[in-house]
Amino acid sequence: MPPVTWIDTHCHPDYLLKSGKMEEAWECSQNAGVRHWIALSTEKEDTALYARAAETYEFISYTVGIHPQNAPSISLESLEKTVVSWDNHLGRRGFVGVGEIGLDYSRLPESLSERNTAICRQKETFRYQLRWAVRHDVPIVLHARDAFQDVLTILEEMGTNGMKVVWHCFCEGPEEIRALNARGMRASFTGIVTFKNTDKVREALRAQGLERLMIETDAPYLTPVPHRGKINTPAYLAFTAKYIAHYLGIPIQELSEHLESNSRKFFRIR
Ligand SMILES: [Zn+2]
Repeated sequence: MPPVTWIDTHCHPDYLLKSGKMEEAWECSQNAGVRHWIALSTEKEDTALYARAAETYEFISYTVGIHPQNAPSISLESLEKTVVSWDNHLGRRGFVGVGEIGLDYSRLPESLSERNTAICRQKETFRYQLRWAVRHDVPIVLHARDAFQDVLTILEEMGTNGMKVVWHCFCEGPEEIRALNARGMRASFTGIVTFKNTDKVREALRAQGLERLMIETDAPYLTPVPHRGKINTPAYLAFTAKYIAHYLGIPIQELSEHLESNSRKFFRIR
């Protein structure tokens, strides 16, 4: 039987790279069967960090992208420059997509006018990055928080149909996931599925089924049970995986095979 292995399809290892804890985290990760990490960019600084890390560590793949929460603080000029610089990553070892990009309405300013400005900047930044992704046909990793419908609308308007699109850290329910799946998109799930009051998210996971399923830690955030409260690390993906295998009533081996194949195909990792 092949070994039970996992791919962390979404993490932010800048905290490990900056604190010199990479080797230690990688050793724990290997022991837990987590053999590949995809490092997600949120701004141009971490893209540079991850591109360098991918040259050093074979288990690292990375994306380029500006997180919606960083969008309002970036000038249009800087956005354009950053996106143009992404051309240098095409074909580079470890480069696998654009993300995390999208819309996040969970922490908008209180005043109505500032709120509208922030939303406009987020939408503008999202569209600009999508245009690059469409032009180069690279996989897209979405961040959508309290903005499900607006993200869906912008994707349709930008013509991402038929492209590889994953909604990261899916927190909606079965109805929403059916809407994505019907459009050829998929969702990936974090340790949130191991939390007590997240029945809706688990139902969404079940509704999507095994053929499209991908999982992630989103480390250092969203630590799964039984380590909730600690800093998350890619090794903890194994807890989420075990929980899901139990929840779906399938052998761990079967889940591992599906997730490996789904994740490698989606991100074109050999
Ligand atoms: Zn993330």
